[in-house]
Amino acid sequence: MLDALTQRLSSVVKTLRGHARLTEENIQEALREVRLALLDADAGLPVVKEFVARVKEKALGQEVVGSLTPGQALVGVVNAELVNLMGGVGEGLNLAQQPPAIVLLAGLQGAGKTTSAGKLARLLTKTTKKKVLLVSTDVYRPAAIDQLATLAKTLEVDLFPSDPSQKPVSIAANALDWAKKHYYDVLIVDTAGRLAIDEAMMAEVKAIHAALNPVETLFVVDAMQGQDAVNVAKAFSEALPLTGVVLTKLDGDSRGGAALSVRHVTGKPIKFVGVSEKLDGLEAFHPDRMASRILGMGDILSLVEDARSRVDEKEAQKLADKFKKGKDFDLEDFKAQLQQMKKMGGVASMMDKLPAQLTQMASASPDLGEKALRRTEGIINAMTPQERRKPEILKASRKRRIAAGAGVPVQEVNQLLNKFEQMQKMMKMMRTGGLAKMMRNMKG
Ligand code: GDP
Repeated sequence: MLDALTQRLSSVVKTLRGHARLTEENIQEALREVRLALLDADAGLPVVKEFVARVKEKALGQEVVGSLTPGQALVGVVNAELVNLMGGVGEGLNLAQQPPAIVLLAGLQGAGKTTSAGKLARLLTKTTKKKVLLVSTDVYRPAAIDQLATLAKTLEVDLFPSDPSQKPVSIAANALDWAKKHYYDVLIVDTAGRLAIDEAMMAEVKAIHAALNPVETLFVVDAMQGQDAVNVAKAFSEALPLTGVVLTKLDGDSRGGAALSVRHVTGKPIKFVGVSEKLDGLEAFHPDRMASRILGMGDILSLVEDARSRVDEKEAQKLADKFKKGKDFDLEDFKAQLQQMKKMGGVASMMDKLPAQLTQMASASPDLGEKALRRTEGIINAMTPQERRKPEILKASRKRRIAAGAGVPVQEVNQLLNKFEQMQKMMKMMRTGGLAKMMRNMKG
């Protein structure tokens, strides 16, 4: 995601290298790069023009102080303006409504409404322990109703059954009634979408809005649609009193421009971003983190938060305790660690959030992928418990048996044992607190 934009912007720093101060002249070239980078990322022309003008004004007014280079100073200004452009501080979901708090999702077909409804229900039930009811008003596509029902079942969240022979407004009103009577905290309403904006669709969603008076009306939009997304956003924000935006598919080959323009066009904050097809792929949107991600400074904060929500608390504690007591790190522990890594979505999903240089380093070393993790785990699984605890007993015949059991060449078993030995050495060195502390910190 956003790679091209990041690369172009980092070259801005280089164009300014060697200059002592920012001048109208030397900044010109850098600003041109910023402008092209943003246009390439599919941010709209009016947005880009205004953005560049603001950056110029701020940059020229600013002295390059201390140990900053002119390039860094300019990137500092670009960063601050990017944060501004995307809405300043992150805004969460507002659920301050006489229960049930109603969240209405609107957008074109395929934007990711139904998926986002499920993801949102998951977030609310998991992190804030809310009692959530889901309902679909898409009577035109029975498949959409089924899709939501399947999601609800997977998530173990309640679903209000929709009767496709009823009018969407009645379904919504009935669902609200039911939610009130059964003390739900939140009612999430999925609406029908069309392939393009049309009047009937707008009239219908407006009627549902009027009937429900939701505290949150979220416009769901596909980041991959680039400038089209922005036009659709405009139409929806004119028809409905939106309270926020859910920007989906930011994990795809979206060039990121929509993230930059949508706020500007709708005047409403992006509240969530969809970052995978999976149900845990919805994140709160933080303009500052997004800006540093765009500028390639990495996003350690989201990474840590992500790790926190996925790492198994008990497992982490067990490992941490073990190190504290000074026990030896064995293959069981190694496996437990691999499992934690897998839970965090493997190394690949972490990559996106790391600073550019780290990513390069990491992708240069070969065996970090999810596949490799699975193979390694397979080999450890083929060992007996005794072998895992005492890897030193692994001689040639045992290794051959394990290799056969895991369906890999003996070499791979040897490689794993080498890696494990290195890790064991490292663990011994860190026993004084390193890893245990790191894991505790990750837990907050
Ligand atoms: P709706 O018509 O607006 O309800 O859209 P759906 O929720 O059915 O989503 C359309 C497609 O987009 C589905 O295949 C989803 O799996 C996919 N999708 C939704 N959100 C995301 C996301 O954040 N990332 C990715 N990669 N796919 C997504």
